[in-house]
Amino acid sequence: MDCLFCAIGRGDIPATVVDQNDDVVAFRDINPEAPVHVLVIPRQHHATIESLTADARLTAELMSMAAKIGASEGTNGHRIVLNTGEHGGQTVHHVHAHVLAGRNLQWPPG
Ligand code: 5GP
Ligand code: ZN
Repeated sequence: MDCLFCAIGRGDIPATVVDQNDDVVAFRDINPEAPVHVLVIPRQHHATIESLTADARLTAELMSMAAKIGASEGTNGHRIVLNTGEHGGQTVHHVHAHVLAGRNLQWPPG
């Protein structure tokens, strides 16, 4: 399957990796929307959060890594976002958590 984030997970496409383990990889977004903008992906392909959550252990790994990065890089708080589907604004169809921090994030999002 031709999937950008599977390729990043395998290391076939370079990314600025900030943390990783056997199951998940965290790397900097190529087009950051905040001073801290890290994406956390499972190495295994799941298109959406609905698919990922069938694997509770992997879901916990992904959220734990996102929370760890938010805590370490977001000195004044952070936001974890999973865009899903067209109305959710998902453009890469391999599930990923955005970890955003480093500025006062607005609410509600656009
Ligand atoms: P989505 O819109 O699907 O929620 O988020 C996809 C994110 O992936 C976007 O923030 C986009 O900037 C990022 N992105 C797309 N292509 C690449 C890439 O090749 N490398 C990295 N590091 N980020 C990417
Ligand atoms: Zn994939």
